[in-house]
Amino acid sequence: PPSALAIIRVSGPGVREIAQTHLDKGLPAPRAVVLDTFRDRRGEVIDRGLVTFMAGPASFTGEDTLELALHGGRIIVELALQALFQSGARLAEPGEFTRRAFEAGKLDLTRAEAIADLIEAESEAQHHQALRQMNGALADLYESWRAGLTECLALLEASIDFPDEEDAPQRVDAPVRQSLTSLTAELENALASGNISERIREGFRIAILGRPNAGKSTLLNRLAGREAAIVTDIPGTTRDVIEVRLVIGGYLVWIADTAGLRETEDVVEQEGVRRAERAAREADIRIWLHDAATAPDAPEILQPGDFVVANKCDVAAGADVSRETFRISARSGEGIDRLLDAIRLRLDEKAGRAASPVLTRARHRQAITDGLAHISQALDMLNSGYGAELVAEEVRLAARRLGTLTGHVDSESVLGAVFSTFCIGK
Ligand code: GDP
Repeated sequence: PPSALAIIRVSGPGVREIAQTHLDKGLPAPRAVVLDTFRDRRGEVIDRGLVTFMAGPASFTGEDTLELALHGGRIIVELALQALFQSGARLAEPGEFTRRAFEAGKLDLTRAEAIADLIEAESEAQHHQALRQMNGALADLYESWRAGLTECLALLEASIDFPDEEDAPQRVDAPVRQSLTSLTAELENALASGNISERIREGFRIAILGRPNAGKSTLLNRLAGREAAIVTDIPGTTRDVIEVRLVIGGYLVWIADTAGLRETEDVVEQEGVRRAERAAREADIRIWLHDAATAPDAPEILQPGDFVVANKCDVAAGADVSRETFRISARSGEGIDRLLDAIRLRLDEKAGRAASPVLTRARHRQAITDGLAHISQALDMLNSGYGAELVAEEVRLAARRLGTLTGHVDSESVLGAVFSTFCIGK
């Protein structure tokens, strides 16, 4: 507040009573929009607005839900909340509505995470990825893996339960080995390419590197200035690298300005150089900036696909720059658009490899890594002739680990970790 409207959503068993207490017309018919007066417990009018009632279980949370669309004035919101608190309501905790939806079986964990991502999305790529995840792209994939493991488990357990069937162990070994092997390939593939989905969600990293005075800070400011509306300065907390966040070509990007790379006796500067080198290693794209008056003495840290950029072209036009791809002037802005276009293309190339979101969070990566370890253990045991009951145990552990991805295994620690990432009471 203040805003045109404030929507207050109340969910839970007390909703009907709250509607009776605070609304002149009482409980509205489900799914109808009704204009009504909202009063406090003493009968004082707080505001008039549209109210909507969703009867559980046909609501987002699965519970009775009342939505009040009041005017977004500070005092209205404050009085309305106070009135609701007096009638037994309290503020939702981060992610609590979504958690209730999860607990009511309305959505799985990956869809819940997608809602958090959707709310926080700043770039088109994040938005697109979150939407696909909310539509179940991740859940379907993860569930298909778990279904594969469940099938193996069924085969293994059948061979335990019916050991007398002729040749049963041998017949079971081959199909189980085959499914586990192909599952291993799929999971490994997901781990290898999943990095990109994480990058789309968290932002790609670009490091500006160069000798001292090449114009790195000027370039960063120039890039940031173009997108000033969505720039945040994050003065180095853990590392002395200045980062700004911007959106380039629909992707969220963190651009880092680093300490100039050079040999130095100064201890503080040495630390700065060390941090610059680390930023360079962790970056998805490196920009090596040098003074156009000198030859580009790019260090080994550059990788194929990085950019070598000659700066200060406004004053060093005559220098020998034939080998360089980009000539800019960070000061005048010359050549910056061409550089940005090239960065955009490079990001498209990188993101293009992630046809569908695979692992968008570190949590997913960890669960898949653990699941993979159990599968590979199961395969080793099969190959060494262990009994079906021992192999089955490893397969069960793998399935349980993958089950945490969608929340099929309800472990409080997993749920807490997921819902605490909501920054608001959605
Ligand atoms: P850094 O040490 O690499 O971060 O370099 P700075 O951005 O601090 O720039 C060093 C000096 O070069 C400053 O005096 C800048 O004004 C100057 N400078 C940066 N970019 C340009 C440019 O494109 N043209 C000219 N003429 N000077 C520049």
